[in-house]
Amino acid sequence: MRIETKCIESGYTPKNGEPRMIPIIQSTTFKYDTSADMGKLFDLEASGYFYTRLQNPTNDMVAAKIAALEGGTAAMLTSSGQAASFYAVFNIANAGDHVLASTAIYGGTYNLFHVTMRRMGIDFTFIDPDCTDEELEAAFRPNTKAVFGETIANPALTVFDIERFADAAHRHGVPLIVDNTFATPINCRPIEWGADIVTHSTTKYMDGHDATVGGAIIDSGKFDWMAHADKFPGLCTPDDSYHGITYAEKFGKEQAFITKATAQLMRDFGSIPSPFNCFILNLGLESLAVRMQRHCENAQKVAEFLQTHERVSYVTYPGLPGDKYYERAKKYLPDGSCGVISFGVQGGRNAAEEFMKRLKLAIIATHVADAHTCVLHPASSTHRQMTDEELIAGGVRPDMIRLSVGIENAEDIIEDLKQALEG
Ligand code: PLP
Repeated sequence: MRIETKCIESGYTPKNGEPRMIPIIQSTTFKYDTSADMGKLFDLEASGYFYTRLQNPTNDMVAAKIAALEGGTAAMLTSSGQAASFYAVFNIANAGDHVLASTAIYGGTYNLFHVTMRRMGIDFTFIDPDCTDEELEAAFRPNTKAVFGETIANPALTVFDIERFADAAHRHGVPLIVDNTFATPINCRPIEWGADIVTHSTTKYMDGHDATVGGAIIDSGKFDWMAHADKFPGLCTPDDSYHGITYAEKFGKEQAFITKATAQLMRDFGSIPSPFNCFILNLGLESLAVRMQRHCENAQKVAEFLQTHERVSYVTYPGLPGDKYYERAKKYLPDGSCGVISFGVQGGRNAAEEFMKRLKLAIIATHVADAHTCVLHPASSTHRQMTDEELIAGGVRPDMIRLSVGIENAEDIIEDLKQALEG
């Protein structure tokens, strides 16, 4: 199946007389005839459902669709993108370990790593994704357990050199984790470029309608944990909390990572989305391919308009010839990047705020990457915990406006921007 077909068909195939749509199994618990039947589930000897804090059939059908879209072997849904980023890293990094992350990542992820996960004893080095090979090599430590980057960074719009970072990670025996939220698997499938684990804030384009917060983790099934068993004891030595199971042995490369994240992290932290939210997410996934095409077409037109306007000081969009990431985007994102553009208004911070007040169609919202056009000033909102130096290191200028181009008529969006710039 091609990707557009997978958006509709993957994850659930009704049998004779069964519902056409993914059923919402809104049940916390599942019934078993004997305690022995249930015991097998607790021992991970049989697959099945027993409690929705860990797993639910509706969620798993939607996760299977996302796994198919990304070309992975297993996936799980989480209650937010933040939970997905946290689980993806915490599943393999413990207190005393180190993770190498790109500086060009979402502000919330930066905070999660830099503040909260540091408090858990995990150390992070943030590295410029366009650093030299020597700098990249020097950033690895003997206790490095993963490398983390974003395909298209929110909001810097830098395009991550996935292949280069995957090669470096593999040379050091660790997996590359890529947050593919902005590109979506319609425009880039990081696993095809060497990424081992892919994460998403499904809150963005995947849902696409401002309706549900959620996250996803997809395993490529390619990383050989047992070949680096000394680095990943959590996967490669017996888990006492699951009767001595060794995940990498029992579930193999294809399933070990997601099984462990479900059995341990979901069990203990319980960041599971409701089956109803997963059903809504699936509605968004069905139209993802069509919407991404429209987002990219609209964003291209809007970026070209902004570039020619005298009140605009700069425009960043990987689809613009001359953009720093134009060539790299042609490699990783040949069908389009995303609907998000960043730009500056002549006059700096205050002029940007005045411009935003005059907008009529585009709303001011924290959100990004959905059907409605919206704008945000990251330095005073999502990234306000960062200093100016940290912002600039992450590719975020203090006067930058992030414009998320929706799927309305492009001319209407352009007219709105024009009147606000000239008002
Ligand atoms: N990753 C990226 C690229 C994001 O843009 C966001 C949110 O904006 C997240 C992760 C966190 O996702 P959520 O807000 O669903 O927790």
